[in-house]
Amino acid sequence: MKVLITGGAGYIGSHVNKYLNKLGIETVVIDNLVNGHIEFVKWGKFYKLDLSNKEAVYEVLKKEKIKAVMHFAAFAYVGESVNEPAKYYLNNVYNTLNLLEVMLKNNIDIIVFSSTCAVYGNPKYIPIDENHPKDPISPYGKSKLSVEMMLEDFSQAYGIRYASLRYFNAAGADKEAEIGEWHEPETHLIPNILDVAFGVKEYVEIFGTDYETEDGTCIRDFIHVEDLAKAHILALEYIMKKNENLVLNLGVGRGYSVKQVIKVVEEVTGKKIKVKESPRRKGDPPVLVADPSRAKELLGWKPENGIYDIVESAWIWHKKLRTNFS
Ligand code: UDP
Repeated sequence: MKVLITGGAGYIGSHVNKYLNKLGIETVVIDNLVNGHIEFVKWGKFYKLDLSNKEAVYEVLKKEKIKAVMHFAAFAYVGESVNEPAKYYLNNVYNTLNLLEVMLKNNIDIIVFSSTCAVYGNPKYIPIDENHPKDPISPYGKSKLSVEMMLEDFSQAYGIRYASLRYFNAAGADKEAEIGEWHEPETHLIPNILDVAFGVKEYVEIFGTDYETEDGTCIRDFIHVEDLAKAHILALEYIMKKNENLVLNLGVGRGYSVKQVIKVVEEVTGKKIKVKESPRRKGDPPVLVADPSRAKELLGWKPENGIYDIVESAWIWHKKLRTNFS
């Protein structure tokens, strides 16, 4: 079976690509390299392609005899999506429609979609299960929810089978440090703290210290990118074998506050992290923690990595990144 990975030069897509190849599954990566890194495409075949180029994507699917698609290609900066929603609807929604159309034309009816807990918006209860109301507050979250709805409709009308995987906070890196988190600009918490540990930033900003949480800072559910990768193949097998669609939360089910994460980084790196207490960042809910029971029950999926594994793997990768690539 050959799998197409869109956005396979990005953070999560590249880890899934590595994992599939480790299992002996053939992959074909397409990526426009706008945010992805060619250095991350070390496995499978690669085509530099944008999903807006429908004809070319059609030809690749046909030529490569693709059987299933894992779809990661998307823009993913929440703040940017607020200021430039058109960019998000175009790339994340319209281009996914292109992809689905050419899949159908090639009789490919299996897709695993990279969704997000941002589809829930501000949580009404914690932990968040899949039945929690969906009320995204950013164009990014709305664009992902739009695709989920599109998949539902396409399944009903054309019989495609899909898995929508709603990630909580993806973090950590490949344990062999071949790939990891590399965003430009970097907005995420753990790499920003690691930049302070590495000495390229003077301090990390803590966005909000007056939340109604134990230490006043936001709480997030950090899930190791390798655990995410495993869930993708399990989800693919499930929808193919059972002939059923899947909508799943992927998180650990336990949260850490921003201050707790900073402490873990201090322990792992042995460096003192200077912080600056800043105002709240717009659109950040105080607590986001998954109820991952459905994924456990249906897929037998259980995250194997905790916060220390996440920070340790991220630190090893981050030193390599800052030394060799940037
Ligand atoms: N955060 C922070 N300083 C940073 C980056 C993030 O305090 O430099 C906080 C952010 O406000 C949020 C949490 O860390 O509460 C996780 O943010 P991140 O951007 O990593 O992921 P998100 O939750 O937005 O997906």
